Amino acid sequence: MIYAHIENLIDYALANKLIDGRDTVWARNALLGILHLPAAGKTRCSRRAAAKTPQYPAEILADISFWAAENNLLPADTATYREIFETSLMAVFTRRPSETEARFFHIYKKSGSRKATDWFYKYCQQVYYVKADCAAKNIVWRTQTGFGPLQLAINLAKPEKDPKEIALQSKTPAVNNGYPRCLLCVENEGYYGRLNHPPRQNLRLLPLKLNGADWYFQYSPYVYYNEHSIILSAEHKPMQITGGTFKTLLDFVRMFPHYFIGSNADLPLVGGSILNHEHYQAGRCALPIEKAASVKNFKVKKFPQVSFDIIRWPMSALRLRGGKNDVEEAAAYVFETWRKYGDAQAGITPHSGGKQHNTVTPLARFKKGKYELDIILRNNRTTAARPYGLFNTSPFYHNIKRENIGLLETAGLAVLPGRLKNEIAQITALIQRGKIEKMKDLSSLAQHYEWVKAFLPEYEKEGYKQSDVPAIIAGEIGLAFCKILYDCAVFKHDAAGKEAFLRFINKL
Ligand SMILES: [Zn+2]
Repeated sequence: MIYAHIENLIDYALANKLIDGRDTVWARNALLGILHLPAAGKTRCSRRAAAKTPQYPAEILADISFWAAENNLLPADTATYREIFETSLMAVFTRRPSETEARFFHIYKKSGSRKATDWFYKYCQQVYYVKADCAAKNIVWRTQTGFGPLQLAINLAKPEKDPKEIALQSKTPAVNNGYPRCLLCVENEGYYGRLNHPPRQNLRLLPLKLNGADWYFQYSPYVYYNEHSIILSAEHKPMQITGGTFKTLLDFVRMFPHYFIGSNADLPLVGGSILNHEHYQAGRCALPIEKAASVKNFKVKKFPQVSFDIIRWPMSALRLRGGKNDVEEAAAYVFETWRKYGDAQAGITPHSGGKQHNTVTPLARFKKGKYELDIILRNNRTTAARPYGLFNTSPFYHNIKRENIGLLETAGLAVLPGRLKNEIAQITALIQRGKIEKMKDLSSLAQHYEWVKAFLPEYEKEGYKQSDVPAIIAGEIGLAFCKILYDCAVFKHDAAGKEAFLRFINKL
């Protein structure tokens, strides 16, 4: 059977033009080498060979790694070792970085940026670095709120560690040689992988020059939205938003006008999960904030060519529109002004104890012939009463999301933890059986009890069917997400908050 699996994988590569007919013998020998097989088999699996070549190689790879585990080619039969092994098979069919780069920029010059990213995204899926079939397992939905529809995704593509691996990791001394230094370092390109670092043998990076500095473009293996990309600094250095950040973002947009790009804030509590390597996220999709309407248009004397708006959004956000240079300079001005801005009445202190508190989450795009930049104002100050942050998720909603509210959430896309899938199923069953009190006794559900108790009476008053419960919970999670964003707003939506926002606008 193993020989049939090898032929199936070669057929897959041929069908997707990862190799040419001329490469067949060479590719077969490469696979035989990885599998420690001295010779090719004579038979092909007639069932598989007759079937249509699959769109994704997952099943063929699983067949081969199952065989490899049985034949003791893996250090242990765990999900990570299988993934590393399967990636080493796909590496046979992945072009060298220089060839990938040459192909991409050839298409870019000849047919434009859209065609170039179309090719590269498809290619990353074909070599199975982007696992689109796994991403399709994520649970995604929309909830209508007073600020327009928000998007939610329960992330199931990133599998949870199996207990066997956790045990292995505790037994084997941690490989901590600092290589690659982090998940976003250039050294990941082609990296074999180990128990505590994912395989990146089929990862390919494209070099970009943005704002005079060296950056790399890659797709994210965890597809939270269409063509989810990461733009990473060639250098391993911490996230830092400066006046120059806006030029970097707009340089990218000029190169890829069909993509948005945004940066996480650069401070703990309000930043993303990786603060130690400067990077941005981009992609071909309109995140919910893009549709936010203007609440108030205003002018800033220094920048007569730029249109400024406060937008209708749960967090405090400004939108700048205009020509590239004008928007870059105006954004740097807004950022510098905000960095130093204090408003005791609104609880905003720009820094304390030598630590910066004010920063921004910026998001850029090209729309209707103009450069558009959304600047979401952030502050990470903590107080005795709010040790997790004054402008951060209230603990009441920690059952939904405890992690930082990063770029994607700020823009209206909640990436929620995988644990919620099972918890929601259990909550649904308890509500349907009228036994929500039981939640208090279950360790995974106790955290949801107060939240369910807060929204359920409203529905009970109006009456609902058993079959409505899943939709009720999905909708309530969406509304909770909206309130989380509201918690993160530096200027609240009440009269005092609106006045405070206007004071900042006057300062500009
Ligand atoms: Zn790094």
